[in-house]
Amino acid sequence: MKTTRTESAADVANELLSLAAELRASDLHLEPRDGETAVRVRVDGRLRQARVLPRELGERVTARLKALAGMDLTDRRTPQDGRFSRGRTNVRVSALPTLRGETLTVRLLDGGERPRGAESLGFFGTALELYDRMLRAESGLVLIAGPSGSGKSTTLYEMLSTLSGESCSIVTLEDPVEYAMNGVSQVPVNGLAGVRFADGMRAVLRQDPDIVAVGEIRDAESARAVHRAAITGRPVFATVHARNAETLPDRMNDLAVSPGMLAESLRGLVVQRLVRRTCTACGGNGCDNCDGSGYRGRIGAFGCALFADGESAFPARLREADEMLADNCRALAAQGVTTEEEADRARRSV
Ligand SMILES: [Zn+2]
Repeated sequence: MKTTRTESAADVANELLSLAAELRASDLHLEPRDGETAVRVRVDGRLRQARVLPRELGERVTARLKALAGMDLTDRRTPQDGRFSRGRTNVRVSALPTLRGETLTVRLLDGGERPRGAESLGFFGTALELYDRMLRAESGLVLIAGPSGSGKSTTLYEMLSTLSGESCSIVTLEDPVEYAMNGVSQVPVNGLAGVRFADGMRAVLRQDPDIVAVGEIRDAESARAVHRAAITGRPVFATVHARNAETLPDRMNDLAVSPGMLAESLRGLVVQRLVRRTCTACGGNGCDNCDGSGYRGRIGAFGCALFADGESAFPARLREADEMLADNCRALAAQGVTTEEEADRARRSV
């Protein structure tokens, strides 16, 4: 589309948000470069250029999106965050000053996209069996691990959605709340003015919940609070950034939860990756449905493990979870759900 100086920033911002929705993009980036602003979209985990705006228009569109997100327009030197709603989509905007000007990242969270069952996420076979069993844990920690962008929070929401159907009280601590769920008391951590994570957790436990969930273990304070909650007699579900199961104890140790403490609390583990699905319309050859990429949408590959109290075979269980994940990547390619290339990429990252 041709852009001219007279174009209204509001119209262009609106067009970009519509384009992102049309492409099923999770993120929209506005990046200032020499004399222009590149607009990139992230679709199925991959960034690609969508448009280039003249720099002056790019700056006005950036200002428009900042205004929608309730940010300070006069401040272009401090990192800022904000949000707004567009239809049923929650839009999170983050502005970061760079050498070439202010970069904007717009995350689009489709509030209408709800968990639809573990099998539709990609669980099958042994992983699905173990997954079902860890949902029935009566106490202890269930961790969902993987790198960023591996779909951990979708799995967490899927678990909570299944559990909330039963007569039980679930309280979550999230930063931020990505999806609003019926029947779950969701507490945005950043909404607790001046309250530290550990205090937030104490307040949550006073609510006498049957199940506690933590959006993400980010630091030693949240890791230790999660550990303490998990050893006091109720199941705690949480996600954590970790490459694989085998390195999880090291990762948790960095977060001030020693291997001994982890063995004391950990009852269930999911490790995961997302792989791109081969486009069913063209069989991977490239068509209008997949924008020529041969892929459309993504599916999870999973490895799971259950742990008994004080398990001595701990490292062996962790290795089994990683092997299951690698096997399931291969199986997705063998079933034609994804390509060998995509499955290998995911498997090698484990
Ligand atoms: Zn296609």
